[in-house]
Amino acid sequence: MPRENLNPFVIAQTYFKQAATRLQLDDGMRAILSTPKRVLTVSIPVRMDDNSYKVFIGHRVAHNMSRGPAKGGIRFHPDVTIDEVKALASWMTWKCACLDLPFGGGKGGVVVDPHKLSIHERERLTRRYTSEILPFIGPDQDIPAPDVYTDPQIMAWIMDTYSMTKGSTSLGVVTGKPLALGGSKGRDKATGRGVQFVLRQACKAMKMSIKGAKVAIQGYGNAGGHLASLLHEEGARIVAVSDSKGGVHDPKGLDPAKLMAHKTGGKSLKTFPSGQAITNKQLLELPVDILVPAALENQITANNASRIRAKLIAEAANGPTTPLADEILFKRGRVVIPDILANAGGVTVSYFEWVQDFSSFFWNEDVVDLHLESYMIRAYQSVAETAAKYKCSLRGGAYVLAVDRVAEATRVRGIFP
Ligand code: NAD
Repeated sequence: MPRENLNPFVIAQTYFKQAATRLQLDDGMRAILSTPKRVLTVSIPVRMDDNSYKVFIGHRVAHNMSRGPAKGGIRFHPDVTIDEVKALASWMTWKCACLDLPFGGGKGGVVVDPHKLSIHERERLTRRYTSEILPFIGPDQDIPAPDVYTDPQIMAWIMDTYSMTKGSTSLGVVTGKPLALGGSKGRDKATGRGVQFVLRQACKAMKMSIKGAKVAIQGYGNAGGHLASLLHEEGARIVAVSDSKGGVHDPKGLDPAKLMAHKTGGKSLKTFPSGQAITNKQLLELPVDILVPAALENQITANNASRIRAKLIAEAANGPTTPLADEILFKRGRVVIPDILANAGGVTVSYFEWVQDFSSFFWNEDVVDLHLESYMIRAYQSVAETAAKYKCSLRGGAYVLAVDRVAEATRVRGIFP
């Protein structure tokens, strides 16, 4: 079995280099586009509820701002590393360009298991992290959003800390906020909806139907949980789902509402009363039509890619497939809708939220979904056309489209001074 480098930034660079080669970019442009513009690491001292102090480490990376302010989520997870944040920031650059949004790419992360903190400790951690990165964020500079284990409440604390420091309310500094604070209708479901919209396009191209399709989803949070409900409503059979502790498999189909009720009751999906408990590894290899990794990076690797049985894989998570696995899947005729297209519904509705905050005019959910659908369809078609032109996978097409757009913006702006 080939040994793979699983460093996410090395993986992100590999995908970038493939596109740079297809586009015949010169060495200077390659260096500019592959190097993060800003990398910040901060220490975050937090007073714990027992009056002791702990220091956490946080990062914020702005990868590229040629097409607009950096945009990207904040992750709270014990395994966060600077290279993971750099990779996620660069994927945001390519994702925003792929969807033709007027943003660059950024990402943040704090090395912490938020489940081990009280709500008050989480609030103090969030506010101090915000205060440490505050000179570098702002509605026209770098705009955070939720990611793994961060949510609208955390976005509200970021917005409040920023606004209190600046002396005026600034809604546009962060997206994924609660509705009461300038959040957008439809933002909670946006990532799942976006995956659903591109799945419809891919199914049409592959002469498959979502109705009746067997679907396995790894990760049952914002991305995976909403997607399960949306595909279930559309007639798909959700046969397996999982969370960090494991999952459940039922070939007859699972009810997403009952799964969510089980999960919000604080229990793992592996203890769901119907079906059979399975591991995350087993879930990926089930005989399904559609597989959706919706948790973390490096889930489909050279080790298991030859055993993936799904015909269609939609990457709701960022970076779930390694380059070697990607090659194996392509050779085996498996279609992968890449992360920078598949999960772009979240940042697209974040863009709509930012627009609504600026104009102080808020849309209803139907309008949000209508705009989202048109953005996702347009991006899918451009990616499919580019892939056909370069005779490569959808991932190859998505990267060529995105890298070309950022390179063009860089060229016409010129390099200062
Ligand atoms: P979340 O915090 O809402 O949920 C994460 C889910 O993953 C939980 O169910 C958790 O139990 C599960 N999980 C964690 N570790 C796991 C593991 N090792 N194996 C299996 N499951 C595991 O996070 P989210 O916002 O749904 O993000 C999930 C993925 O989607 C991430 O890769 C994120 O970057 C990506 N994403 C999210 C959004 C968004 O809008 N939330 C947008 C684009 C991409």
